Amino acid sequence: LKQSLGDPSLLTDKAFVAGEWVGAGSGPTFPVHNPSTGAKIVDLPDLGFADARRAIDAAEEAQKAWAARTGKERAAVLRKWYDLMIAHADDLAAILTAEMGKPFAEAKGEIMYGASFIEWFAEEAKRVYGDVIPGHQPDKRIVVVKQPVGVVASITPWNFPNAMIARKVGPALAVGCAFVSKPAKQTPLSALAMAVLAERAGVPKGVLSVVTSASSSKIGEEFCSNPKVRKITFTGSTEVGRILMRQSAEQIKKTSMELGGNAPFIVFDDADLDAAVEGAMMSKYRNNGQTCVCANRIYVQAGVYDAFAEKLVAAVNKMKVGDGFEDGVTTGPLIDMAAVEKVEEHIADATGKGAKIATGGKRHALGGTFFEPTVLTGVTPAMAVTQEETFGPVAPLFRFEDEADVIAQANDTIFGLASYFYAKDMGRVWRVAEALEYGIVGINTGIISTEVAPFGGVKQSGTGREGSKYGCDDYLEIKYMCMSI
Ligand code: ADP
Repeated sequence: LKQSLGDPSLLTDKAFVAGEWVGAGSGPTFPVHNPSTGAKIVDLPDLGFADARRAIDAAEEAQKAWAARTGKERAAVLRKWYDLMIAHADDLAAILTAEMGKPFAEAKGEIMYGASFIEWFAEEAKRVYGDVIPGHQPDKRIVVVKQPVGVVASITPWNFPNAMIARKVGPALAVGCAFVSKPAKQTPLSALAMAVLAERAGVPKGVLSVVTSASSSKIGEEFCSNPKVRKITFTGSTEVGRILMRQSAEQIKKTSMELGGNAPFIVFDDADLDAAVEGAMMSKYRNNGQTCVCANRIYVQAGVYDAFAEKLVAAVNKMKVGDGFEDGVTTGPLIDMAAVEKVEEHIADATGKGAKIATGGKRHALGGTFFEPTVLTGVTPAMAVTQEETFGPVAPLFRFEDEADVIAQANDTIFGLASYFYAKDMGRVWRVAEALEYGIVGINTGIISTEVAPFGGVKQSGTGREGSKYGCDDYLEIKYMCMSI
């Protein structure tokens, strides 16, 4: 991998703590593997409490001077970081494909997407406006200012090793926070490559650290118990989100939580079926089904059910599974064997209760963690996939008759992140869009992620929003000054 990079220094075996690149020395390490080949890429330092604390101390120290700069100065650094990410997009994508498995073109897409958050928040850095409120008494003047929360600690998952961090570090640094990142142990190399470029862009020592560790619970405990950390920002499962919120409760830390989803994807009988199939393909199979906004339950109205199923199966059969570096590959491996087992369990549970496999259904002939893209028909609410996120390449098709019933089914979940539907009737479009209890509704589209819109969930899918003009709010405190004149 290193030899194939235009800039080999982007691939590192060191962590980035308090402005220093630290090797493992004689300390413990953990390996990072390529999930397509099983080959080890590199060993990284397995850091612990003391290193996390060092990063937090340095962040606290550096944050004050960073916040004291003007928005325009911080914007210039972030803009430079963005430019470097774009200039090195191919290398960043290669590192991402190697550690995570997604096809190179998709990895490149993620790099551009991640970079777009750095660009967006570079722009927003200059626009952290307050307010002037007319006084409540003749001698009173009321001014509202927004200030950075301070030191932010971040924990992110492996499915978007670049973008999940970019969406957090962009707004945090833009408004003057310092940032300590704990990337997923499966995919820390993309985070470290970003840090190499951040340092080059002029992010001051200590403002950004990347703490690599195989024990996320250890680092998580330090993040949540260290009083210098004012905010925890997390993307991952609802289960781990609960743990972090519980741990944060002790010090009433602010939290932003981007948690699990269980996205419904509804196809009404007035939908453009070809467009719906195309949307379902992107929503369901992007990243091999490993995103929190992937369609998890596909509801198709009875009149178009068979036609939709047939078109979807035809599209799925054109997918090419393989190593993400191979030409024409649309779908990489799953992240690990546990992911394969969960997919198998969901398929076995569904078929055991009467669902039929329309295509796929088993491990791929390539072996490893490759899995066949799968479509299930005749899926019913009694099956596990109705309540749990599969996080894999399985499209379960439910049949429904009427609008009110499908809305009730779509909302019958603890989750509320993304939802999708395809319909043409204007009245129906408004009714359904307003009735879905989700933070995001894709209407006649299967792709909803962009830096210009607020991404986030309701119910047990989390709190806070990432991206858009609202994205800075998660990293700001509101202060109101009441002046008597
Ligand atoms: P995923 O299925 O994406 O791995 P998780 O919620 O399990 O979802 O993990 C998301 C991130 O949270 C990963 O970086 C993981 O290492 C981390 N993590 C898992 N358990 C804990 C914990 N108890 N405390 C802090 N972080 C954790």
